[in-house]
Amino acid sequence: MARGFLKGLLAGGLLLCIQWTPAAALEAQRVAPGVYVIPGIVGDPAPENRGRVVNIGFIVGRTGVTVIDSGANTLHGRAILATIRRVTQKPVKLLIDTHPHPQNVLGNEAFAERGIPILATKITAEKMNERCPRCLENLTASVGTEAMRGTRIALPQQTLDAKTILTVGGRQLRLIPTGWGHSEGDLAVLDIRTGTLFTADLVYAGQIPHLSEARIEGWLAALDTLETLPARRVVPGRGPVGTSSRILGFRRYLQQLHDQVAAAYHAGRTLDETLHQIDLPEFHDWQGYAERHPLNIQHVWYEIERNDFPTTP
Ligand SMILES: [Zn+2]
Repeated sequence: MARGFLKGLLAGGLLLCIQWTPAAALEAQRVAPGVYVIPGIVGDPAPENRGRVVNIGFIVGRTGVTVIDSGANTLHGRAILATIRRVTQKPVKLLIDTHPHPQNVLGNEAFAERGIPILATKITAEKMNERCPRCLENLTASVGTEAMRGTRIALPQQTLDAKTILTVGGRQLRLIPTGWGHSEGDLAVLDIRTGTLFTADLVYAGQIPHLSEARIEGWLAALDTLETLPARRVVPGRGPVGTSSRILGFRRYLQQLHDQVAAAYHAGRTLDETLHQIDLPEFHDWQGYAERHPLNIQHVWYEIERNDFPTTP
């Protein structure tokens, strides 16, 4: 009996340890002086990746740290903070939410519980307020309740709606809101000293993008804006860090998708015919081609149709 009780206690203790392990540090890659990326796991949110599918960035300045995106849940956010702590003892001064998608912002609570200010575009804050309760439910359904344990929605308290240069922790950052492209509230961040551009999901590398809340023409215009920036390296939202050629390489997918769907639409093809007709061999080896590319064709088709027949007030 006593032995069983002891075993129970040990098992309980072990369980406690396991429950705390998600705050263990993750792998951080140094991509430039003071600039780090915690790579996302390739794929869509699932129990095995706990929703940790997007790249997270942090920039260590002379007196403090800026973090770019907070991850998919509170445990992820805490793991990001533990990772930063292994790199530097300087305080985290600011969290920037790049856009209102759950994998990017549902880790906010880990920062809010430490009193770290959170900044986003005004529209991102509004969309989070509107949608995050549903996003939280949907992401929990995808990754499971254990990964989402303790996750609460924490909204940005600081917002911006125009290009801004901020000095955070002794480091100058250029914040570039690009309008409705991948999402309604996209924001890119340029670390001026190293020329490192964090594009968030405006650029994917080696993965087919998600267009479910996108406007493809706005997205192409956003990429034009990013191409004008003095970026020596680009940290995409998904996939490996590269040079500014990452922007052009990704743009080719969106442009071909747009042009071919538009041509089929204006030639009088049905959506079904278009779905069977449009194949982009250059991108066959990008992750998600078989599943997401047909959805993207459909999304762009409906966007062109909406523009063709605008609803009258
Ligand atoms: Zn996104």
